[in-house]
Amino acid sequence: MQHDFFKYQAQTTQFAAGFEVEKAVGSYIYGKDGKKYLDFVAGVSANTLGHSHPKIVNAIKTQAEKYLHVMVYGEYAQEMPVKLCKLLADSTPEPLEVTYLVNSGAEAIDGALKLAKRYTGREEIISFHNSYHGNTHGALSVSGNEYHKREFRPLLPMVSFIHFNEDKDLEKITEKTACVLLETIQGAAGFLVPNDDYLKKLKARCEEVGALLILDEIQPGFGRTGKLFAFEHFGIVPDILVMGKGMGGGVPVGAFMSSEKIMHSLSHSPKLGHITTFGGNPLIAAASYATLKEVLESGLMNEIDEKEKLFRDLLVHPKIKNINGKGLMLAVNLGSPEFTLDVAKRCMERGLVVFWQLYRNEYLRISPPLTLSLEEIREGCEIILKVLNEN
Ligand code: PLP
Repeated sequence: MQHDFFKYQAQTTQFAAGFEVEKAVGSYIYGKDGKKYLDFVAGVSANTLGHSHPKIVNAIKTQAEKYLHVMVYGEYAQEMPVKLCKLLADSTPEPLEVTYLVNSGAEAIDGALKLAKRYTGREEIISFHNSYHGNTHGALSVSGNEYHKREFRPLLPMVSFIHFNEDKDLEKITEKTACVLLETIQGAAGFLVPNDDYLKKLKARCEEVGALLILDEIQPGFGRTGKLFAFEHFGIVPDILVMGKGMGGGVPVGAFMSSEKIMHSLSHSPKLGHITTFGGNPLIAAASYATLKEVLESGLMNEIDEKEKLFRDLLVHPKIKNINGKGLMLAVNLGSPEFTLDVAKRCMERGLVVFWQLYRNEYLRISPPLTLSLEEIREGCEIILKVLNEN
């Protein structure tokens, strides 16, 4: 199978692992090599409840027996997407109320940008250096890493970049700005957390000049930091909230959420301001609804602080420079990209899946299922420490 993977499936790099998966259950992935691997990555912050959670699997099966796709987004009232949108409204602060369901994080970013331009009637977008928002032309345009953009220009015009956590850059947000887009916790940059009052200052500046604040919570979304969304730690509410990855519990989904007033502007002048065939697909919505309900009702979010603390207590070693992040999105600085990639490889050989941060390869990524037990945290950290002790 590996041969056919490399030959027929388009590759994103020249050094993919090509690991062959037999099945995945709970915190473990089982390889075709007959070994089991503890998963500290969760499909890059996607498998919120671990692998093949029975409630998600049952929700998908139940929906599959009723109907699959019946109509494009927005025409028919289908139970699962409606329930998901209503539960999201009930679980987030005002004025967040109305959710547009799409197929991926990048599409949700594109939709959010279009919504902000349409609602404000303005053209300028402000984003952040070292941000990552996805790979469609729109999402790439607002991502702040030149290496990944250079070969694909021209991209969207009227986009400028400011520095994360830099108060003086806030002046660059003006009456011409349609929206300011940022990740609440910068992911690819190494899980950078905003300084104490930074988001409050940013929100105040946006309000002062009438720009919309869009928060990309595609990674923290659905409980990863101990709150349903990370902005809840910082005393602000965005005008538009973007989610994806972890909201699906393992199925492809994205969404952007706003007030009724703002979201309404996508339905007129022009009508069909954003359309999608499969957005809100009932199978996907059933999985996402089951994920959301379980995250809200299981008490899992209350365990995140303890799990983060255990990681931080265990991962102490002269080769670990520092650990960034919050909750179960942690980035462990091992000093150099080469060493980090080598550690990840050796962890895999010993039965532990870890990864690295997209732009900052010297950071080892830890973004496990939220359901990971304390015992499993100990088991995985022991492997990391053994590997670090090897040379
Ligand atoms: N925004 C952030 C912060 C992400 O981490 C990602 C994916 O890694 C995206 C956007 C894009 O999401 P997707 O890969 O589902 O298009």
